[in-house]
Amino acid sequence: MLTNNNIKVTPIKALTDNYIWAIESNNYLVVVDPGEAKPVIEYIKKHNLNLAAILVTHHHYDHTGGIAEILAFKETKVWGPVNESIPNISNPVENNDIIEIPLLDLKFQVLAIPGHTIDHIAYYGSSNLFCGDTLFTAGMGRIFEGTAEQMYNSMQIIKSLPNTTNIYCGHEYTLANLKFAMLVEPHNLEIQKRYEEAKLLRKQNLPTVPAILSTELATNPFLRTDNNTVIESLVKNRKIIPQDKIAIFRELRAWKDTTG
Ligand SMILES: [Zn+2]
Repeated sequence: MLTNNNIKVTPIKALTDNYIWAIESNNYLVVVDPGEAKPVIEYIKKHNLNLAAILVTHHHYDHTGGIAEILAFKETKVWGPVNESIPNISNPVENNDIIEIPLLDLKFQVLAIPGHTIDHIAYYGSSNLFCGDTLFTAGMGRIFEGTAEQMYNSMQIIKSLPNTTNIYCGHEYTLANLKFAMLVEPHNLEIQKRYEEAKLLRKQNLPTVPAILSTELATNPFLRTDNNTVIESLVKNRKIIPQDKIAIFRELRAWKDTTG
């Protein structure tokens, strides 16, 4: 529902492996999840941009730690989840709210995708999804505050989007995630192909994010928990027989947690 198709989206690297997303149009800039101020301020100065808004997906420090310092540099609107205690949120939003940022001709729909944190949200507009730490490329965030059922439902919301949607997540975790995906589905050629491509990108220090939802549907085990191969692999490796789809999902997450 992003109305402007002439936007440019660039990752600004922050902390160890975070991506702050820079959305640009007409010399205006929106940043998503600024965990650090310095690289954002440098980016603004280098490209001579006007900061039009900050969007926040959830309260974790590596997604919010730079907000105060950025605001001291340039006052702007900060959108973020209504129920999470994030300092400096000027525009609290919740599920299905529509955000409009006229300076860039941008429009986003807010999607509640709890699980990683209880009030985690995503911003969805014209083929782009900024989903923080809920869905990762080839993987999924840890379930810190919510339940496996909430996270499962959040995955279903993402799965229901058009499969051409670009997935912009908050971290560069693709290679490690694909290693786990290969453990779950050793014979899935799409996963192997994606792993080789990601390895090549990382060798050149290039981001593997964004990914297209159709790629995620074919290779991300957490979007494939209704697939028989995934279920059979889970039964074999975890030596359990999950009773329902939530139990399958919970066990898959537990399995991933054991791999680090
Ligand atoms: Zn997080």
